[in-house]
Amino acid sequence: MNKGGYGYCTHSWNPMVGCDRKKISAGCSGCWAERMAVRQKYRASVLDPDDNKWTGNIVHFPIMLNEPLKLKKPAIIAVNFMGDMFSGEADFEFIERIWDIIFDVYCDGDKHIFLILTKRPKRMLEFCQWLYEKRSWTQFHPNIHFGASASNQEDLERILPTMLELADNGAHTWLSLEPLLGPLNLKSLRNVRAVGQVIIGGESGSQPRPMNEEWASEIIYHCQAAEVPVYMKQMAGKAEIPEHLNIKELAW
Ligand code: SF4
Repeated sequence: MNKGGYGYCTHSWNPMVGCDRKKISAGCSGCWAERMAVRQKYRASVLDPDDNKWTGNIVHFPIMLNEPLKLKKPAIIAVNFMGDMFSGEADFEFIERIWDIIFDVYCDGDKHIFLILTKRPKRMLEFCQWLYEKRSWTQFHPNIHFGASASNQEDLERILPTMLELADNGAHTWLSLEPLLGPLNLKSLRNVRAVGQVIIGGESGSQPRPMNEEWASEIIYHCQAAEVPVYMKQMAGKAEIPEHLNIKELAW
């Protein structure tokens, strides 16, 4: 369990690491998790030594599963951001063990909030349907916020219907628009009571693709009109966030 990171959560927890290497979005070509994995002890398990790109392996660390139970103070925990837990064959049995910990936390006074993030929300929904039916759970646990990420309009249109479906069934949902690589039409947010939170961010790394201030400004405008909390995480590269865009609203 690592402290800090991302700005909008207090801890990150990675009992699963890696991604299937299928580039599902324009955002994947600058994959942050792939770059970060180079510095980790487990790098040889998930990265190809020739090019430091994902091998497609998704590695599990059962030893880390209990970590949230050790945290005494309430925490906002980013779950498996070092990859995409719903990529590839997505091992539902192992993800179920992660859900068991989240459920234990919920039963123990609902102390922590868990942020899930994927570029494959359809697979996330399939997992939920599989698990909740198996357990006869009739509602989503309020300590889970289901997130999906989009870098451009094409991504947004792909993920939004599933996020709506999750929300219609009572789940907390959020969108990570990072790295933002083009303008997005969020006018429909007015009707999308579904989206509980929007995060905006430019690309990081040594050769970040640009993020136009106007794109961020438009998203902020539509979020505010729809009363959806919006958090401006970063501009592209090391650029400072202009004052008029520096909004830090969080729903959790
Ligand atoms: S889905 Fe996520 S983890 Fe996988 S390559 Fe794309 S950005 Fe990286």
